[in-house]
Amino acid sequence: MPEPTQNLFGSEEITLRERLAPVTPHPFHAGQIFHWIYGRGVTDFGKMTDLPLPIRAVLNDRFRIHPPAIASVARAADGTTKFTIRLEDGEEVESVLIPEGRRITLCISSQVGCALGCRFCLTAEMGLRRNLTPGEIVGQVWSLRQHAGLFDRTFNLVLMGMGEPMCNLDAVMAALGILADQRSFATPIRRVTLSTVGHVPGIRALARYPDRPRLAISLVATTDAQRDRLMPINRKYPIRELFSALREYPLRPKERITFEFVLMAGINDSLEEARRLARLLHGLRSKVNLIRYNRTGRGEFSPPAEYRVKRFRDRLLELGIPVSIRKQKGEEIYAACGQLALRRDVPPPGGKAGGGGPQSGRSG
Ligand code: SF4
Repeated sequence: MPEPTQNLFGSEEITLRERLAPVTPHPFHAGQIFHWIYGRGVTDFGKMTDLPLPIRAVLNDRFRIHPPAIASVARAADGTTKFTIRLEDGEEVESVLIPEGRRITLCISSQVGCALGCRFCLTAEMGLRRNLTPGEIVGQVWSLRQHAGLFDRTFNLVLMGMGEPMCNLDAVMAALGILADQRSFATPIRRVTLSTVGHVPGIRALARYPDRPRLAISLVATTDAQRDRLMPINRKYPIRELFSALREYPLRPKERITFEFVLMAGINDSLEEARRLARLLHGLRSKVNLIRYNRTGRGEFSPPAEYRVKRFRDRLLELGIPVSIRKQKGEEIYAACGQLALRRDVPPPGGKAGGGGPQSGRSG
């Protein structure tokens, strides 16, 4: 008997219905299989006990359910765990599980590599290899839930891993649709945060979705000259254009736009920078997350002294901007912001490899 070739993993219910039509006359079987795959984490048709036995046998012959596989796991002392996920074509992406008290956040990728070339980000060095499919985006959450036994837990989801989600928005939104379904992960889209470096057409496109994730902007600099140098996307969509899109962005009641600001010593950690940031955010429902730059082993940038991070925060507070300093998590396994890149040739900050796995980490 030849191996069944059609992989059902990653299909929305409507697609399952179409694909299963030759096998079963009952559309509700597609809904049952949807629930087994995403809600219960079952990939063996034989265990789908509410399907008739003859249907299970035919499904087994014709289809398979093949989620992406976990290729390696590295766990930091603070519990942050980085997963390398291997895709069917052998490409790999990274996803990170971040525990904080009882709260769990999963940080997932939207592309293999990234084309946008931010200078402080290790992922940029990979270039863009390809977009992820909706199934590969869902597959990261599926695999992490399976590995960590999170079936009874709610978790937050952030699209801050490898890639720029706005450059693969259709697939991202299709994946969030699957994840939101009550028979699946029941993770409401509005509990998801999508982070962009300022892809203006993407922001405008996202604004048109009736159900949208929360929006985070990785800003990093407050002048075009500086931003052009650190984040080349700014040459296409400069600060004025970005903020014009943000001022038109429809926010839900009490919703704020989060501004991620990675602080780098001597680059963007001055009080003058804080003042310019406050001026940019004036009148916009927003909050700022300050992130102390995580070392990447490349040496071009370095983290500022802690007192400078606090001074920057205090100045923003004085200027009436809600701000917090994000705790650094998983830096020694290259799972922190700006470090995701499947690098095997960069020494980790602590000098020891994270469990022999690839050294990489989250991006902006
Ligand atoms: S920070 Fe984000 S957008 Fe910029 S290169 Fe890294 S992954 Fe791409």
